[in-house]
Amino acid sequence: MRESEDPSRDRLKQHFATRVIHQARQVLEAWQRLQQTEWCSESTVELVEFNQILLRYAERFDQEEHTRIANAIDQCLATVAANRGRLTSESITELNQLMQRLSRTGLRHGDRYEHTFLPPLRKPVYLALQDEDRAQRLAQQLEFFGLGAAVMNSANAFRHAMLERHPAAIVMETDFSGPGMGLILANDVQQDLAPKLPVLFFSHDDPDTPTRLAAVRAGGREFFTGALDASSLIERIEVLTHTAQYEPYKVLVVDDSRAQATHTERVLNSAGIVTCTLTEPIQAMSDMAEFQPDLIILDMYMPDCSGIELARVIRQNDRYVSVPIIYLSAEDDLDKQLDAMSEGGEDFLTKPIKPRHLIATVRNRAARARNLKARMVRDSLTSLFNHTHILQLLDDARFRARRDNRPLTFAMLDIDYFKKVNDTYGHPMGDRVIKSLALFLKQRLRKTDHIGRYGGEEFAVILPDTDADTAAKVLDEIRRRFAEIHYPAQPFDLSCTFSCGIAQLEEGLDSNLLSKRADEALYAAKHGGRNRVEVYSKK
Ligand code: GH3
Ligand code: MG
Ligand code: MG
Repeated sequence: MRESEDPSRDRLKQHFATRVIHQARQVLEAWQRLQQTEWCSESTVELVEFNQILLRYAERFDQEEHTRIANAIDQCLATVAANRGRLTSESITELNQLMQRLSRTGLRHGDRYEHTFLPPLRKPVYLALQDEDRAQRLAQQLEFFGLGAAVMNSANAFRHAMLERHPAAIVMETDFSGPGMGLILANDVQQDLAPKLPVLFFSHDDPDTPTRLAAVRAGGREFFTGALDASSLIERIEVLTHTAQYEPYKVLVVDDSRAQATHTERVLNSAGIVTCTLTEPIQAMSDMAEFQPDLIILDMYMPDCSGIELARVIRQNDRYVSVPIIYLSAEDDLDKQLDAMSEGGEDFLTKPIKPRHLIATVRNRAARARNLKARMVRDSLTSLFNHTHILQLLDDARFRARRDNRPLTFAMLDIDYFKKVNDTYGHPMGDRVIKSLALFLKQRLRKTDHIGRYGGEEFAVILPDTDADTAAKVLDEIRRRFAEIHYPAQPFDLSCTFSCGIAQLEEGLDSNLLSKRADEALYAAKHGGRNRVEVYSKK
């Protein structure tokens, strides 16, 4: 921890700031609870109340960013209340954006992170290991991934730290401060905590069942044995402390009757679902590209084209084969319903429909579709976007960059001498390096950047709103930091480097040409000696 001139004052500030964070979490949890139910008075009242407490704390304890966000949430909730408690797509979207900002807002603690290009991601991890040097090294490695870690050098120091501030997670050696003491300590400090903090236990040797059981009872979520390396640790911490980045479902409603469409929208909005209505089905395809719905609700009978015809058109496009289509119609002839279903419809709902039935159907279908899509577009080893999808994203990003007249940069990365890693340390170690670079990129790049696994040990990054020079700086910093990571291995620890090629979007370039340029720049980086970043330049 950083020493300051007046430690007691610093501690006091930290204590107050922690209360703000705690309250922010209450607001986020209330918002998440709302997503699972409906926008009914009770849960809304709770959200309003929690947010007002947050606003008070944030103002009192001088947390500017929290104050700004809580104020904006308050105004947004007031607008909903003024609208007779009726939620609209705009307010759902706005609230969700504010909640995401809130979830990313950390504490201001000194100037520690001022010179890195990322804000502090979250609370630190407490490391309680027998071997303090080893803990220090591990802490350093975690910092490379953008995760703060504090090393505990005694049971007392740990207890003290727990009173001051709760960490994101605890890494505890079972024998920390004495045989079996780590288990007792982890249990003790969490006596009155609800929910419990995630604890990751570690021991050199394989624990027996009673030890494992004691670990589970002390809040243990994971048990590491043998070597403890930063990337597998951080991977688990990531999962355990992940506050689900909830994105509201988006539903496209196509219905020629404005009244019917408005009714459907109201029902869905009340459940926190964002909607977009079309009364002219012919428009549908262009609006789909812009809105990117999770699900489509189609009317069966419309004057210009029928729901069935529209479903066929939608299904012809590869991008939308997996978007569920639900027919909503007064048609009660079962044969006609079945015909409609065979044209790529997922479900047939007859009007009038109970709001709860409609909401449940939409939620279930949309959830499954998202799940499926996530698996289709992601690579299973790294969970980054796969080759096909990253190119689709590049098309989309290119379209937006053109429209908004903003720069766009595409980068390709390739790990250096990777064959040697496999040959010397084995394929599983190679996989670990690939996973760790994936994680590293995720931690270090912006939320708005897209990261893909292009193939084997090749990665692609799309950086919207970024010119080639800025991208080169960012990626060069990542390159430098990545090279500093050591993977514990025999006979020597392993470290890896990568080469990177960068190209910026220019007039007349399609996605193919742009990626070709990045590839050429990567080739130049390899030939220039590897472990470097090159920007494409015309010869
Ligand atoms: P260079 O510096 O020129 O990039 O050399 P390199 O050895 O990294 O390049 P090359 O493309 O010749 O070799 C890549 C190797 O990556 C070959 C392949 O066996 C290995 N590889 C590809 N996919 C995976 C994977 O998923 N896991 C592991 N462990 N290895 C992989
Ligand atoms: Mg390579
Ligand atoms: Mg390669």
